[in-house]
Amino acid sequence: MAWFTRRSGNEGSAIVPEHEKKRVAEAQAAVPVGSFIKCAECGAILYNRDFERDLKVCSKCGHHHPLTADERIAYTVDENSFTEHDRDLSSVDPLDFPEYKAKAEKGEKNTGRSDTMVRGTATIGGFPVSLLVADFRFMGGSMGSVFGEKFVRAADYAMANRVACVVFVASGGARMQEGLFGLMQMAKTSGSVAQMAQTGTPYIVVLTHPTTGGAWASFAALGDVIYAEPKAYVAFAGARVASQAKQFKEPPNYQTAEFQQEWGKVDRVVPRKEMTTTLTRSLAFFGGKPSSPIDGGGQ
Ligand SMILES: [Zn+2]
Repeated sequence: MAWFTRRSGNEGSAIVPEHEKKRVAEAQAAVPVGSFIKCAECGAILYNRDFERDLKVCSKCGHHHPLTADERIAYTVDENSFTEHDRDLSSVDPLDFPEYKAKAEKGEKNTGRSDTMVRGTATIGGFPVSLLVADFRFMGGSMGSVFGEKFVRAADYAMANRVACVVFVASGGARMQEGLFGLMQMAKTSGSVAQMAQTGTPYIVVLTHPTTGGAWASFAALGDVIYAEPKAYVAFAGARVASQAKQFKEPPNYQTAEFQQEWGKVDRVVPRKEMTTTLTRSLAFFGGKPSSPIDGGGQ
């Protein structure tokens, strides 16, 4: 059992490299001091009011600071249109994995929720959607049983109600504390995406910082349309693991949203301010019908 415990302090994300974790932590620690905030990237001092108005994007360097799931929802969907589903679903600890419960409790304290994925219904630009938003602060956005279950329920809701499924990804990959149960979520979510494809249900993915490991190797790479936020870290293996493989010389910045766009894995890198408009355009393209906010009933 020794190898179970040797990575003390690991938050459930073996894929995201330490420097990236540090970057996220620093950015999330960029708390306002009075009326000002310091950009985590360039160090510029910004008015907190302006920073909020700019959706937490630095007006000096354009750095997109991480968002909580609630902030993401508030910045993206029509006002008061979001209804959350399955908020109380929580994973069991199938392997009795050391420190799993403590890490989950920490995640719950960070987010006020019992797992990574936030699932609900909303309207975007008047179009009803089935919405999934991952919160990286809960065990690095890792994919456990609840993550997969909420994904499937969101897809089922989308298919049953003939609306699009939109997912915002921020994940370190499969949740190692659940072992094979974590890995199985890759197959479970991918199967659900296949069902959506078979039923002509639009499935739109937005990659945010960071999207890695099992998430990028399954549902996150399977969207009918894949958008990404600028400079989001998008990779299967972290930089350290990839460099150890030494099978090829890595091109510069190859684990970024921009590189993935250049090579066709991402359809478009979209600044946060343009995200709602962009999603609205996609929903209209897929033939959605604008409606009043949906009631959040169903599953
Ligand atoms: Zn900046």
